[in-house]
Amino acid sequence: MPTSKLTLSSEVKYLKGVGPMRAELMAARGIRTVEDLLYYTPFRYEDRTRVTAVRDLVAGQMATVFAEVLTCGLMRTRGGKFIYDLAARDASDSAGPAPTTGLSGAIRRKMIRCKWFNAVYLEKKKIFRPGQRVFFYGRVEADRFGVGNLQIIQPQYEIVQEADLEPKGESSESGTPGSVTEASLQVGRIVPIYEAIGALSTRVLRRLLWTALASVEGQVAECLPESVRRRNKLMPRGEALARTHFPGRDQPLETLARFRTPGQVSLIFEEFFNVGAGLALKRRKTRSVEGIPFRVTPSVRQAIKRILPFHPTAAQKRALKEIVDDLCAPHPMNRLLQGDVGSGKTIVAIQAAILAIENGYQVALMAPTEILAMQHYLYIKHLLEPLGYEVDVLISARSPSEKAALKRRIAQGALPLVVGTHALIEPDVKFARLGLVVVDEQHRFGVLERYELMRKGPTPHVLVMTATPIPRTLALTVYGDLDFSVINELPPNRSPIETKLLGEPDRTHAFEFIRAKVKAGEQAFVVYPLIEESEKLDLRPAVRMYEHLSANVFPEFRVGLLHGRLPSDEKERVMQEFKQGTLQVLVATTVVEVGVDVPNATVMLIEHAERFGLAPLHQLRGRIGRGRARSTCLLLAAEPRTEVADERLRTMTETTDGFRIAEIDLKLRGPGEFFGTRQAGIPAFRIANLLRDQEIQEWAKREANEFVEHPPSPQELEAFAQLLRQSWPQRYRLARVG
Ligand code: ADP
Ligand code: MG
Repeated sequence: MPTSKLTLSSEVKYLKGVGPMRAELMAARGIRTVEDLLYYTPFRYEDRTRVTAVRDLVAGQMATVFAEVLTCGLMRTRGGKFIYDLAARDASDSAGPAPTTGLSGAIRRKMIRCKWFNAVYLEKKKIFRPGQRVFFYGRVEADRFGVGNLQIIQPQYEIVQEADLEPKGESSESGTPGSVTEASLQVGRIVPIYEAIGALSTRVLRRLLWTALASVEGQVAECLPESVRRRNKLMPRGEALARTHFPGRDQPLETLARFRTPGQVSLIFEEFFNVGAGLALKRRKTRSVEGIPFRVTPSVRQAIKRILPFHPTAAQKRALKEIVDDLCAPHPMNRLLQGDVGSGKTIVAIQAAILAIENGYQVALMAPTEILAMQHYLYIKHLLEPLGYEVDVLISARSPSEKAALKRRIAQGALPLVVGTHALIEPDVKFARLGLVVVDEQHRFGVLERYELMRKGPTPHVLVMTATPIPRTLALTVYGDLDFSVINELPPNRSPIETKLLGEPDRTHAFEFIRAKVKAGEQAFVVYPLIEESEKLDLRPAVRMYEHLSANVFPEFRVGLLHGRLPSDEKERVMQEFKQGTLQVLVATTVVEVGVDVPNATVMLIEHAERFGLAPLHQLRGRIGRGRARSTCLLLAAEPRTEVADERLRTMTETTDGFRIAEIDLKLRGPGEFFGTRQAGIPAFRIANLLRDQEIQEWAKREANEFVEHPPSPQELEAFAQLLRQSWPQRYRLARVG
């Protein structure tokens, strides 16, 4: 049956079978064009070439059966619960002739029961009727109450319209999508299973996709550059799409389930290639911009070394060299510096800052919180002021007149280094000669903020630092326009941290442990969770805890309280007092999560540890273990807990390796949630999966870089870039690209 020809960019409403209501449903999922629909790929496949005859079913197996409904209806248990109960008889060809031994036994051997708990909706919506033929898929088990029957609890099901089974004669488009005839879409083949879109069931979607594929057949323009597609032996796009939606019988189900058939791999590659190429183009653009090449003279080299209070680790030296090479190049640096908590990123950044300052330029260091900005400021001031470098801090808490004076000095170029929060990107902050921007704990900032700060100078160098490591697969996607440096080594003389998981009954024990440590001259943190990034922070539990600890538990110790709502000078005072040892126990909210550096603190008790995410837990724990003494982290967790919370806590007790923790965190939370807040910058992949497809991502990224750096011809690159610019915003919801 010939289908009217559409193009990829035709709106879905022009597709046969799509009315205004269906179009609206799809639009809500971001599906507007035929192309969008074609990239709505199955999340699973079912092998309906291998329907199991009911009499061959074995308890314990996952199976698809094809059966005709005999009876169905809602029942009530003695306990008052509802069960929807359905009995059906084998309807597959493979059911075979009835065995000759006793009819009743034969019928029973061909019966299957299906049950759904509390499924009142099945009754209300009259989903099933006797006589219907249905595919059921699920785990087969013995029916304890039936007589030798097998049952499937809550099976997935798909009701077959009789039209699906009747051959419709020769399809005029023989060989159309993956050589299927329309009649066989639902049965007798490997069928794609789609996530339903509202009322659009997998059945309906299957037919719509078939129609969509047929209507654009032969007109699916390639998206990948031809040279790349050929070299990597990838399928033409139209074929890859057809085979992914309607795989032939020759595709092993197991390979399909892993998303590794040639068609699926081609589509996944394409997606990663496009994002990779977009980022490479962006990077190439910054490289084509003229930057500020700094110079390293012997006296500059001397100045950079002079500030070091200790010997840098080999990893720090390597990272610094990579940074210095960039800073001396004629184009702006765009580099990500990764390293575990406490690996010593700050000092490397300060060394880079000295290079800029010695070359006559200004440096801005932006931190996500006032506490961290203050912490950096005090650390840097302590390090640099004795050597004659002037440093100041811009945070909103300072008085208007102070801020005004500070901004004047920044604008006059009189201040070489300024530390600050978001206050630094306010429009009235203007630098005379901004040469280097350092953004610490980048994942707390949106990607756009990085760009805001870059615009404060003509073409400043940019160094981005992350608080905790980011899994490579995410780094490639979100920071793929940056070069990477990694500090994969901790400074010497760090003692390992022991982490223990405790419950409420261990509380007294935990407090006694802290008492013993503090008596021995060490210091302790007690951390209380707050729901972060919420406007209404409820500080009461932390404050109550502080009062309780100082009055009842540790009356003999000096206990302090630190939280984000304290006035700045108060925060600074508390931090200083804890640093100097005046305060012995510090009750704090997660404000201590980043940056606080007190080597004498060796114990951390984290209350309600089950409520924290992995990254904050790892960050918090990074506040201890900074000196030579043994450190202990006590995770006090309430019950009951979710499985995921258990997994997080277990991970914490098993490892202190931030790179491993990041990988586990990504697996537990998924890419979208990894950064805690929705990050503007994770592309909306449609078929690619960052967890499953990492090796394809690496491969596609290499190819994308190669293509952008060494295109077969400038015209081919330009044509591809043009295509990408058009499709980028809609396909990946990434606004900015070069
Ligand atoms: P992070 O990478 O988490 O930002 P910091 O830069 O805050 O780590 O460094 C953590 C602590 O380790 C600081 O007290 C810093 O002075 C110290 N430190 C950094 N590098 C070294 C080193 N090579 N030797 C000794 N101590 C170091
Ligand atoms: Mg840091």
